[in-house]
Amino acid sequence: MTRTATDVIATDVIILGAGASGLFCAMTAAARGRRVTLVDHARATGRKVRIAGGGKCNFTNLEMHAKHYVGGNPHFPKSALARFTPWDMVSLVSENAIAWEEREHGQLFCLHAADDVADLLERRCRAAGCRFLLGQRVEGVEHDGTAFVVTIAPAQAPGSDTDSDAEPGPQAAGRGGPGTPVRLRAASLVVATGSPAWPQVGATDIGHRIARRFGHAVAPPRPVLAPLAMPPQWPLHGLAGIALPARVTTAGVSFTLPLLFTHRGISGPAALQASCHWQPGAPVEIDFLPGENLDEMLRVPEHGKLLARTLLGRLLPTRLADRLVPPDISDRRIAELSRTARAALHAAVHAHAAVPAGTEGMRKAEAAAGGVRVDRISSRSMESALRPGLFFTGEVLDVTGQLGGYNLHWAWASGKAAGEVA
Ligand SMILES: Cc1cc2nc3c(=O)[nH]c(=O)nc-3n(C[C@H](O)[C@H](O)[C@H](O)COP(=O)(O)OP(=O)(O)OC[C@H]3O[C@@H](n4cnc5c(N)ncnc54)[C@H](O)[C@@H]3O)c2cc1C
Repeated sequence: MTRTATDVIATDVIILGAGASGLFCAMTAAARGRRVTLVDHARATGRKVRIAGGGKCNFTNLEMHAKHYVGGNPHFPKSALARFTPWDMVSLVSENAIAWEEREHGQLFCLHAADDVADLLERRCRAAGCRFLLGQRVEGVEHDGTAFVVTIAPAQAPGSDTDSDAEPGPQAAGRGGPGTPVRLRAASLVVATGSPAWPQVGATDIGHRIARRFGHAVAPPRPVLAPLAMPPQWPLHGLAGIALPARVTTAGVSFTLPLLFTHRGISGPAALQASCHWQPGAPVEIDFLPGENLDEMLRVPEHGKLLARTLLGRLLPTRLADRLVPPDISDRRIAELSRTARAALHAAVHAHAAVPAGTEGMRKAEAAAGGVRVDRISSRSMESALRPGLFFTGEVLDVTGQLGGYNLHWAWASGKAAGEVA
């Protein structure tokens, strides 16, 4: 990296965002001999990686397939995923003595701590000569006709790492005084600034604003992998803390996984997964006895003398059963129930329908769907078709993984794809 008399730092590749995909991209590009400079307003690298998976980082999934992603073009992730497989990630962590374990549904987690993965990537980058400019806010991003010019200045206050109001347009450098902006100049610019989900760790939408500036369309971001809030009139409020396996269906997609009642609605893996596919105003349907057939159980002769609420109380948590059984049949014996009453019971248990009021928002969302539309992005290299040398990687793109290690794997795979070219 060369600093000139006019305070312009020349480098080959500028990467905005030293998170999951930025680090992976930097490591890959630096291994090709490129001079790489990473800029991040946070003072530590990979902040989301470090909190991922409850601190154990669900870093990939053995069942890797494009069907686990949502976005404007379901085929887009295929190329990068094919060139960086879960086993490539397993090799990387294993070669570096990071112990891992396989949990249900092919999910791979660190045995020790998520920090191990972030530290590994940072170490690899530093060893390959990458320059880190941490605690730096992005003041401006432009193309001067031959190269990208990024203006940065120290983030305003120590510890402050949110500058979502910064407009990434052209800015004057060298104003003097503390926090004097510096210009970086490079032929390649990689935007790896993630999505606005979980702003507590400094997530912003700056990547979307940079994309728009260079003519890219952006699908409106919406919080996903987030709890669903139910409207005030929802009959199952007040059951916070109850957890059970359930099948949650929305937009024709079903997930049979643990469900958790919260103070505002539903959470747990089944609800979080459903939130990826849920659209505002659409219903969700919950089957509280997935894989069972209540009709058949009602026909079992020994059940005939039981009260409806007693049988349901044996099959489900009692407080939930009491809410689900219609009051007019709760104290009637199973054998006495009419066909209509049985159908009502069946529907209450197997097809509870509700229209969520919304998700619990970006602060509770592990990801944001939407982002830079991929129609003008190369699925092979993540390079912009509108501005050669401009790349977008990771969650800033309109590619969102389901729960289970898919988002981090996308960050690694897309970061690597860009790093091979940028
Ligand atoms: C609580 C939580 C748990 C998660 N657990 C998992 C999991 O176990 N498995 C999984 O697959 N996925 C998980 N995810 C999702 C995963 O962490 C993200 O999808 C992934 O980190 C995205 O990678 P990225 O490189 O695109 O963005 P990020 O990793 O978010 O990196 C973006 C970087 O850009 C920087 N940045 C942002 N705005 C600016 C700005 N204005 N100026 C300068 N720098 C900026 C940020 O500081 C950050 O370092 C989790 C997310 C959360 C919030």
